[in-house]
Amino acid sequence: MNSIQLKPGREKSVLRHHPWIFSGAIAKIEGNPQPGETVCVLQADKSPIALASISPKSSITARIWSWNPEENINKEFIEEKLRIAINKRTNYLLLIQNNTNAFRLVYAESDGLPGLIVDRYADWLVVQILTMGAEYWKNAIIESLKEITGIDNIYERSDVDVRQLEGLQQRFGPLSGKEPPETIEITEYGIKYLVNIKTGQKTGFYLDQRENRQKVIEYSSGKSVLNCFCYSGGFSLNAAIGSATEVISVDSSSDALELAQKNAKINKINPKKLSWVNADVFQQLRRFRDEDKTFNLVILDPPKFAPTIQQVEKAARGYKDINLLAFKLLKPGGILFTFSCSGGISMELFQKIVADAALDAKVNAQILEKLHQAADHPIALNFPESEYLKGLICQI
Ligand code: SAH
Repeated sequence: MNSIQLKPGREKSVLRHHPWIFSGAIAKIEGNPQPGETVCVLQADKSPIALASISPKSSITARIWSWNPEENINKEFIEEKLRIAINKRTNYLLLIQNNTNAFRLVYAESDGLPGLIVDRYADWLVVQILTMGAEYWKNAIIESLKEITGIDNIYERSDVDVRQLEGLQQRFGPLSGKEPPETIEITEYGIKYLVNIKTGQKTGFYLDQRENRQKVIEYSSGKSVLNCFCYSGGFSLNAAIGSATEVISVDSSSDALELAQKNAKINKINPKKLSWVNADVFQQLRRFRDEDKTFNLVILDPPKFAPTIQQVEKAARGYKDINLLAFKLLKPGGILFTFSCSGGISMELFQKIVADAALDAKVNAQILEKLHQAADHPIALNFPESEYLKGLICQI
């Protein structure tokens, strides 16, 4: 079998079951492995310690399939990993009982399947393939998914920038079954949403915020709510259902706002309570400040400002700016739900940024709760990079 031999000392992270091997850790590549093929990972003394897929163009040159060098990486191996991941979620019957039919079935490295994301939206699966190794096993993945879930309609959303780092073209379209309709109706804790799996953001919906959207219900009764970066209206609908007196939602995408309004309608929410603003949040917050408009509850769920560690400083300025403005818009005793989904920003750093924002806004604030990504996006202990969504509920 082809192999990669590590430099002395570089086996440490592999032995701790971290799934990534960077190009700089590799002393030499033996044989002529094709992109995506399985190679044996050897320590400097040539003893085997793992099996990995190779991606020669990526700085993450190998991703580990198994820490047992005796394992057979074949269709059955992939199927077994998928089955384990999906069974764990199906044990998630609580969610289904709670009227939820959209969740993540496979979360890449956290489920031992590097580069593979599978989301279920009612009777549809959406697959995202991010790495050469997952690409290599694409057919096995699709066949196994059909077999395990009994779902035939599978759509691909591998139209993401990171594929370039692997030397892969972006791609989308049906992988199996029929062409999806314009929107698919899902239910999350009894609330209905229309999801566009073909062109919606991520694979169509921010499943990772499910439990946090629910939280908003608890805090909304009798409150005026401002939901910034509202996308298809998730937090807005929960606030309205939680008896908010008014909910103003802001997003820069007119498609998102259109979908959000349809979502409000299918849930029969009183339209008089809701208003939708198509604007840049950075500017809109300043407009509200200049108009002396204030709120009891502000939600900030911005897009990823720092996808990698390199953009952290600029991202930190962005987070500080919106949090400072949001604190200023709060009425006395007001609540701020604030999130960061940037992998490059830790909870500790995020808390510090929010603390600086409160200081500059001249408010005292307490953290009432710390929030995370939903449990169908689990954080593998051997892969701390899988933790990306953090949130704080603060009260001034
Ligand atoms: N809270 C949402 C997800 C938010 S995703 C949910 O629960 O579903 C981030 C959203 O921010 C996207 O809809 C995107 O269109 C919007 N966005 C990105 N940059 C923006 C900006 N500068 N101003 C306003 N909206 C922005």
